[in-house]
Amino acid sequence: MAKYTGADCKLCRREGCKLFLKGERCLTKKCAMERRPVAPGVHGAARKKVTEYGLQLREKQKVKRTYGLLEKQFRGYYEKASKMNGIVGDNMLSLLERRLDNVVFRMGIGASRAESRQIVNHGHITVNGKVVNIPSFLVSVDDVIAIKESKKEKPMFKNLKDVKVVMPKWLEFNTETLTGKINALPTRDDIDMNFQEHLIIELYSK
Ligand code: SF4
Repeated sequence: MAKYTGADCKLCRREGCKLFLKGERCLTKKCAMERRPVAPGVHGAARKKVTEYGLQLREKQKVKRTYGLLEKQFRGYYEKASKMNGIVGDNMLSLLERRLDNVVFRMGIGASRAESRQIVNHGHITVNGKVVNIPSFLVSVDDVIAIKESKKEKPMFKNLKDVKVVMPKWLEFNTETLTGKINALPTRDDIDMNFQEHLIIELYSK
């Protein structure tokens, strides 16, 4: 799968907010948004007039980059969300949250979504007892997510007990058994990011 290979922190600086792309570093003073919270480039600090289209575009880039997706994949979530009942923006965010790589991140197994994607890609995660190595796999209610039995002793999973995670209520994860469960589908209220998804819907529905 094609992926963005540039500097993660530049993406945050471009969007003007923390996208939490680098795990623990994002919570420290080393975070580029703490040290230099202006857009990258020579004219990054200059004030620019932002058009309505510009606002919509930036919001789309913000959400897309948070989940580490490319344009085609991201638009696919919008298309799928617009065919579902309910509010399109809520549906789209719920679908993004249900991605297996995001779930692995939310459960605290991976320090970032990028690391979680790698964990899934490498076949370390099972869903209902079967290995699933597709990061975009959508979890459903009552799915049991676990670290594969033969991988549980890997050093990267040794200290999960010490990881501090604010677990959304739609998920649970037991750091002793390294097994979690999907209690419900995520709703808009469960998503703690400051997204203005209505701007994305306006952009795509033009
Ligand atoms: Fe963004 Fe994290 Fe880099 Fe801070 S450390 S700028 S939140 S990726």
